[in-house]
Amino acid sequence: MTGHDGGKRRLSPRQPKKGDVIIHCGHLNVDGHHFFSLPGGDRNVWFVRPDGTRGEAAWIVACDDCWRAADGNPAAIKIHGDGIWNNDDPILYEGPTE
Ligand SMILES: [Zn+2]
Repeated sequence: MTGHDGGKRRLSPRQPKKGDVIIHCGHLNVDGHHFFSLPGGDRNVWFVRPDGTRGEAAWIVACDDCWRAADGNPAAIKIHGDGIWNNDDPILYEGPTE
C-alpha cells in the first residue's frame, strides 16, 4: 500500500545475467521489477518486433504497474521493447510488492 519496501524485500537469487536478452514493458527505469523466465529452460524464445525483425529472448521483465495490470500473468504483460541485460541493473526483487 505504501509503495515503500522498508528494506524487507529480498533480492532474487535468480535474475537475468549480463548478456541475456530480455523483452520488457518499456519501464526499465522504475524501482523494482518482476521477471519471468520464458519457457524452454536455457533455450531462448523467438519473438517478432513491430517492424518485422525477429529476436530471441530468455526473460520477460515488467515493472510493478505493468505486472499488476496483467494480474501477474506473464502472457498478459504488454511488451514494448527488447534489450540486452547489462550488468546487474536494474535490481530485481522476489515476489510481488505490497
Ligand atoms: Zn511497465
